[in-house]
Amino acid sequence: MSDCIFCKICNGELNTEFLYEDEYVVVFKDIRPKADTHLLVTSRKHITSLKEINEVEDAKLMAHMLCLLPKLAAQLNIPGFRTIINTGAAGGQEIDHLHFHFLAGNLPKFG
Ligand code: AMP
Ligand code: ZN
Repeated sequence: MSDCIFCKICNGELNTEFLYEDEYVVVFKDIRPKADTHLLVTSRKHITSLKEINEVEDAKLMAHMLCLLPKLAAQLNIPGFRTIINTGAAGGQEIDHLHFHFLAGNLPKFG
């Protein structure tokens, strides 16, 4: 989508540094980090949110995004991490392009 900032980032239009990239995803630092490490694992495909996921078409992408998280942690020598997916404005989603938050270090207790 041409007016989507995360599409622009994924396409390299904003010269964002990628910590990881492959044919499905791009990983970059959150501009306003909420933890020592705060990365955004972002699909290259423009999907507005988890609500728009197609169970058949997007199954491989979703599995890939999820399975990438522990690999990222291992690569960064991070012993544990938190994953957040905000969905919809009422769920705190600001950017309408699917992304997983990967947070580690100095996390508030949750649950
Ligand atoms: P969400 O509320 O789940 O949609 O999360 C959007 C996240 O994107 C927020 O944590 C923002 O700080 C972050 N963000 C917004 N614009 C940028 C950008 N240009 N580069 C990196 N992170 C961004
Ligand atoms: Zn997009």
